[in-house]
Amino acid sequence: MAYIIPQIEILTEQFRKFPGIGRKTAQRMAFSLLEFSNEDVEAFANALVESKRAIKECSNCSNISCDDICSICSDPERRNDLIYVVEDTKALMSIERVREFKGTYHVLHGTISPMNGVGPDKLKIKELLERVASGKVKEVILATNPTADGETTAMYITKLLKPYGVKVSLLASGLPAGGDLEYADELTLHRALEGRREV
Ligand SMILES: [Zn+2]
Repeated sequence: MAYIIPQIEILTEQFRKFPGIGRKTAQRMAFSLLEFSNEDVEAFANALVESKRAIKECSNCSNISCDDICSICSDPERRNDLIYVVEDTKALMSIERVREFKGTYHVLHGTISPMNGVGPDKLKIKELLERVASGKVKEVILATNPTADGETTAMYITKLLKPYGVKVSLLASGLPAGGDLEYADELTLHRALEGRREV
């Protein structure tokens, strides 16, 4: 039977919960933790618990935020009539990195994914429609990732938005198919944002 240290096993199982972390890496992280000072371990544990407790969703755009309304939605310089719809906060951060955009966002928290059993009701689509129904929105830009699920989601939302008479556009192609906005370089992202096309 393999030699097991129960406490290392417990730690390893926790670290394995992170995406892309296999058993070996998780075990290495567990051993690394033993090298931390007691203060550092406590700071680490507190950061995990505190950030999870402090972070909630913006009641306007569903972006993760420490406040009821996120700093983007509460920024008076931002245009409320222009909304970028993104899959997650990581995509939002990519667009922010390009610094061309003065509108606001709507964070879906995923994509419609029949393969993974994710239907439209699991996403923040209803909240998006409520914003549009308020009558303040002029344009919605669908910036889901160029994957099959991302495109399905964009098409689905386009259909739902039609009756509201708002301008709906998609990002220009040029983003690598099957890719992730998060990993697009700034020039590619800039071009995709600039060259959006109305649907
Ligand atoms: Zn917000």
